[in-house]
Amino acid sequence: MGTSEEYGLLGEWGVAVVISMEEEVARKGGGMGQNLGETNPVFSWIWTAPAPSNIKAFAWRVMLGRIQTRDNLLKRQVIHTAAEALCPLCGRVEESCSHLLFTCPAALLIWYDVYAWLGVSTAQIPVGEVHLLQFASIGSNKSQKLGEVAIWLTVVWSLWCVRNRIVFSGGELLKDQILEQVQLKSWQWLTARRVEFSYSWFEWKSNPRLCLLSL
Ligand SMILES: [Zn+2]
Repeated sequence: MGTSEEYGLLGEWGVAVVISMEEEVARKGGGMGQNLGETNPVFSWIWTAPAPSNIKAFAWRVMLGRIQTRDNLLKRQVIHTAAEALCPLCGRVEESCSHLLFTCPAALLIWYDVYAWLGVSTAQIPVGEVHLLQFASIGSNKSQKLGEVAIWLTVVWSLWCVRNRIVFSGGELLKDQILEQVQLKSWQWLTARRVEFSYSWFEWKSNPRLCLLSL
């Protein structure tokens, strides 16, 4: 099967699952997911969110700091210089999971667009678990929170995919396209996986908060 480095490309938007979350948990020892879910709700939220399993597995790895960002490749001596380890989105600092997904200026543009779409304003948190806890704070019940988790998953996955496209094929980050992708994928996932979610694409795109709060 594919290597971790191939993961983000082969598994893009659930077309092919390279490593399923079940395999990942089994690899680390049975029951780990359950134990983590008991101590921190974000793990069980990810586990039960209305989203494809390969993208949940990716988020799981984000939480555990296991994605193959360039700081990790430098530690493993896959790459060898500080210049090679720079963030592919901004080119300013060493790429780490935290930087790439939560604090990179390029990633922040996407998050700000998503916050604006949801009608919230918030400080950016550099730690994945805390970031997700804060992100899923609109909803008051579990269904609403899981809807928010689905949106969060589309954002981190989109950032990882665009990062991989830039690394392997060149190009640039087109933030309007990413926002549209976040809106569309989260709507598709909720429509397919939540029978009580019956909103049109237009309703979701124009007032996601109202749709979420009815879950
Ligand atoms: Zn950056």
